[in-house]
Amino acid sequence: MPAIPDITIDAPIRTWFGVGGRADRLCLARSEDDLLLALHEDPGLRILGEGANLIVDDDGVAELVVALAEPGFNSIDINPRTGLVRAGAAAKLPALVKRTAEKGLAGLEVLAGFPATVGGAIVMNAGGRYGDISACLTRVFALDRQSGPVVLERSAIAFGYRTSGLSRLIITAAEFQLIPDDPSAVRDRHMRIMEYKRTTQPLKANSAGCCFKNPTIDRILTIPDGQGGHNEFQPGSRISAGLLIDRAGCKGTRLGSATVSDHHANFITADAGGKASDVLALMDVAAGRVLDAFGVTLEPEVVIWRRSP
Ligand SMILES: Cc1cc2nc3c(=O)[nH]c(=O)nc-3n(C[C@H](O)[C@H](O)[C@H](O)COP(=O)(O)OP(=O)(O)OC[C@H]3O[C@@H](n4cnc5c(N)ncnc54)[C@H](O)[C@@H]3O)c2cc1C
Repeated sequence: MPAIPDITIDAPIRTWFGVGGRADRLCLARSEDDLLLALHEDPGLRILGEGANLIVDDDGVAELVVALAEPGFNSIDINPRTGLVRAGAAAKLPALVKRTAEKGLAGLEVLAGFPATVGGAIVMNAGGRYGDISACLTRVFALDRQSGPVVLERSAIAFGYRTSGLSRLIITAAEFQLIPDDPSAVRDRHMRIMEYKRTTQPLKANSAGCCFKNPTIDRILTIPDGQGGHNEFQPGSRISAGLLIDRAGCKGTRLGSATVSDHHANFITADAGGKASDVLALMDVAAGRVLDAFGVTLEPEVVIWRRSP
């Protein structure tokens, strides 16, 4: 068996938090053959996307970390006439969103304004108030760790809120069906959503976006509205985790090198040179205060990598 190319020992793992531990071994996979070699080396390998929804504990990880790379995994093919788009799993989502919007294809512009690879966005079913990536996805190409290449139709994937059920697969590419539309209307929506993100979230700080999923409540919940009154939420409604963290009094709370953002309470930001343990401890503090104040359990949205015991 040939050796895996581009392998680095004791390599930094690049994440948008900018803190956290290293990989004992990290490699770039530029083709499906590289991926098969990597799987042979470590069937439990971890896939690194853009690192935009990831925090790696300060001790790092022992498993082989694999980043998909060009030329095998970053292509973007757009058919402006039919709206059919195929993208490699390592293609950058913002570039895909911009290019399809420029061609007047509607569907992906709702994902404007956040960093991701196509593969990472599918695994997380990334999205927000304007829609999720699963809405216009038609097909996923992946490697099953045991059985090799698989093709999954959209209807076979159990997408839910920030979940896809695909995290054990290695996504290699995806197809989307977009809708040819008035190019200036699509570009306008793209710009408006970017602007909304810029004004409501601290996009330039070191973070992974929202740390917690918005929980669905199972009983009537009354929380202060911040102006002396109260808001009432009905059972079955999904409530903003940022609102709960804010109303639990956490905005601006600092622990070591980590801070609950004043701008958006579901963003925890990390100082340059800070520690992942501070971010993780502050997540525990925020979740604990929300549980104490409102009896609601917050589930992390951010993926946490830890060294196995
Ligand atoms: C400023 C900022 C704003 C954000 N805003 C939003 C938002 O509005 N909506 C939203 O949903 N998210 C948001 N996020 C979070 C993040 O952008 C998304 O979750 C994104 O989809 C993560 O993609 P990634 O490529 O960075 O994945 P990573 O963070 O690298 O990985 C996330 C998980 O996906 C797995 N993975 C990655 N690629 C593959 C692959 N090819 N095959 C199999 N598994 C894979 C990883 O192993 C890991 O488990 C934001 C983040 C930041 C920093």
